[in-house]
Amino acid sequence: MKGVVAINPGGADQLAYVERPKPTIEENQLLIEVHATAINRTDILQREGKSGYATNPIIGIEVAGVVVDSSDPQVSTGERVMGLVNGGAYAEYAIMPAKRAIKIPNSLSFEEAAAIPEVFLTAYQTLYWIGKLQASESVLIHAGGSGVGTAAIQLAKQLSKAQVLVTAGSANKLKVCRELGADVTINYKEQDFEEEVKKETDGKGVSLILDFIGASYWERNYQSIAVDGRWVLIGVLGGSTVEKVRLMDIMAKRVQLTGTLLTPRSDVYKAELSEDFSSRVLPLFENGRIQPIIDTVFPIEEVQKAHERMEANQNIGKILLKVR
Ligand code: NAP
Repeated sequence: MKGVVAINPGGADQLAYVERPKPTIEENQLLIEVHATAINRTDILQREGKSGYATNPIIGIEVAGVVVDSSDPQVSTGERVMGLVNGGAYAEYAIMPAKRAIKIPNSLSFEEAAAIPEVFLTAYQTLYWIGKLQASESVLIHAGGSGVGTAAIQLAKQLSKAQVLVTAGSANKLKVCRELGADVTINYKEQDFEEEVKKETDGKGVSLILDFIGASYWERNYQSIAVDGRWVLIGVLGGSTVEKVRLMDIMAKRVQLTGTLLTPRSDVYKAELSEDFSSRVLPLFENGRIQPIIDTVFPIEEVQKAHERMEANQNIGKILLKVR
């Protein structure tokens, strides 16, 4: 079979779709005939040799496809599934721990399904398992046009009817955020988001911040959060070192600051998250209240272009690779 590897750590030009051994299943695993997979920022880190926890030379952490071999009696061959894999997704075949398999609703194509697992599971986990978002609360979602951002806007509106405030860097991205349900959209290149947040929350600040940006937003996030607010850090697109931190501020506002990474979480955690997501969120895809947001679909042979598009911050929603 063929799969995408980085010939040497480096830029997108290092990606190559090459012959690799077809994997075989062990206990409680599925062999998936991959139809579509998707690009994530962690794939770029793996390509650059900076991942720290990638164990499979084939890049990629999520797939949609058909089960062609199963060692779990609860999952049959022929089933259409999507879900997270421990690497190896940009390939014709991939191994998935059986308990992570999420049945693809009949209404969704393989490509639509491949746009779901990583960003929706991350957004769901961050908003609800960690962020404890409640109805009537407010949430500030940065990078609103990102894969995770577009998922989070929909979940926060459809599951909790929260007040959703987003930031993004272009009018086009903000327009899509509004169409997905965002109540307040802020162009961070033209507006001070902390001022807008205060204005829109009667000076109180937001109950929850979904923070992909980190260091460059540290002070403004602090200004934007309410007393007793939860601040969940899931990305460091704006840097990971904060020069001056006033710990007294964290105490004064009783801020709960949490960091999380989904990829290195245990098999058990990912299985429980996938199961909870299946029962609580999948019905919303079936009835059309939530949709996977697809930016572009590249044939897997054009994986270099797909990585370049994400690195240029051009995408709104997910960039997919069509495998077959
Ligand atoms: P994505 O689709 O590639 O979108 C990222 C967007 O962030 C960019 O298009 C850009 O949009 C904005 N951005 C980039 N650099 C920025 C900066 N310095 N300041 C402000 N905005 C910036 O990303 P994704 O796949 O959804 O992932 C979003 C983030 O979540 C990434 O940091 C990723 O690593 C993280 N993530 C974390 C976990 C976890 O478990 N912790 C899981 C999945 C993803 P604009 O045009 O608006 O600037």
